[in-house]
Amino acid sequence: MGKIVLSQVRKSFGEVDVIPGIDLLIEDGEFVVFVGPSGCGKSTLLRLIAGLEDTTSGTIAIDGKDATDLPPAKRGLAMVFQSYALYPHMTVRKNIAFPLKMAGMDQAEQDKRVDRAARVLNLSSYLDRRPGQLSGGQRQRVAIGRAIVREPAAFLFDEPLSNLDAALRVGMRQEISELHQSLKTTMIYVTHDQVEAMTMADKIVVLNAGRIEQVGSPLELYHSPRNLFVAGFIGSPK
Ligand code: ADP
Ligand code: MG
Repeated sequence: MGKIVLSQVRKSFGEVDVIPGIDLLIEDGEFVVFVGPSGCGKSTLLRLIAGLEDTTSGTIAIDGKDATDLPPAKRGLAMVFQSYALYPHMTVRKNIAFPLKMAGMDQAEQDKRVDRAARVLNLSSYLDRRPGQLSGGQRQRVAIGRAIVREPAAFLFDEPLSNLDAALRVGMRQEISELHQSLKTTMIYVTHDQVEAMTMADKIVVLNAGRIEQVGSPLELYHSPRNLFVAGFIGSPK
């Protein structure tokens, strides 16, 4: 589960048409990267999918159901935020379990899910620590763990690595790719970084001023950019 279909999705803020109308199909299990320059509407598009913004018009379907008017909590998606927003006074285990506890899940099932997420994320030996005793990369993984335990239909990432230094960023990029390979859950990943897009994506969506310039695999975009914007942005030789 994790197929997302956008049909004529439009978003305006007041008079400004930030997204004039987008059609997009995201297949179950795909790693999709939204890439484009700052201000082109990447975050807005992701927030529309998450339900954090209302569409001005158009529809969003998740796994065949119209989700256009559903609140974020009912969409079955998990947004992984740029800032970690962990609870400093809680252990890693409690931080990861937090959304399950809020949902009233019984303790045994909570523990099972947390242990499984911690194994996937190599956090098993850190479960009793507090966020202040972790590195930046480990804290990022705890934030991802908190999303994993909810077993969402898709993970949504908005430039999750932009607070990290360059060396850490390369490692985390690899970790998120590995996470996708082990979970096989749909991931939508927003970045303005072409290298991230080219190395992580199954499918890249190139955005420019709220419009899709091209959708394709990294190789397709590299070898057959549709126009100079895509060629210039991806760095291919057209
Ligand atoms: P990106 O994530 O690609 O940098 P955004 O989606 O954040 O771009 O923003 C796209 C455009 O929409 C920008 O021009 C931004 O100023 C505008 N915008 C975003 N959110 C709002 C808002 N809440 N109110 C008014 N304008 C907004
Ligand atoms: Mg943004």
